[in-house]
Amino acid sequence: MALLLVAGCGGGADPSPRPLDSSPVESAPAPGTAPDTPGRPTGTGGTDGRTEVERDIDAAVAITDTYWRTHWSELFTGGYRPPRVLGPYDGAYADTPVCGGEPLPDDNAVYCSDGDYLAWDRDLMRWGHARGDAWVYLVIAHEWGHAVQSRLDAGLVELARELQADCLAGAVLFGAARDGTLTFEEGDTEELADALTALADRTPWTDVSDHGDAAQRLSSFSRGARSGVTSCLPGVVR
Ligand SMILES: [Zn+2]
Repeated sequence: MALLLVAGCGGGADPSPRPLDSSPVESAPAPGTAPDTPGRPTGTGGTDGRTEVERDIDAAVAITDTYWRTHWSELFTGGYRPPRVLGPYDGAYADTPVCGGEPLPDDNAVYCSDGDYLAWDRDLMRWGHARGDAWVYLVIAHEWGHAVQSRLDAGLVELARELQADCLAGAVLFGAARDGTLTFEEGDTEELADALTALADRTPWTDVSDHGDAAQRLSSFSRGARSGVTSCLPGVVR
């Protein structure tokens, strides 16, 4: 996946799906299980000294913000206010940022409504990016979806908040592709499906905190991808 006018993903990503992790929380990898990424420039990937992961994250933030900024007034009343992007943290250390009095979770990504910010564990992004660069786009667009939910009237927020965030992520990424701000490269859609599957619950959705199983996550994401933001809102005929 590439932000238009930004160099492509370098072809280093492994696009082939791997065995499912099926971790029950939003983060898939257990500490210490993150695979190494031999042959990939993990330290100094770019001419600007930033890694490929960091550049993809920046691109994901830019295209997601641009999508909502461009389309907000077509969809909702009031002006668009982007969340703050706190960026990476390392949940394994004591100086992890705090949300609602609790340190941010290790190997996870969050939207913290308390501080209205997005943040993600560096290891989660590295681990996922090694599976395919589309991972970081999904995570950013999903968490941004939670920020959008926090701005909507309660009646527009689905009880299945996580599945709605997936739907919004699909709407943003495919909407950005239609807008021409994001180009899909070969393997990206498979990588998105792989990421949704790896981050899914083992069991179907039953409770507000659930993410839903792989089929539900794929279905929600696909609905947004196909039919846009309004298809993610309650009361819309699907
Ligand atoms: Zn979520």
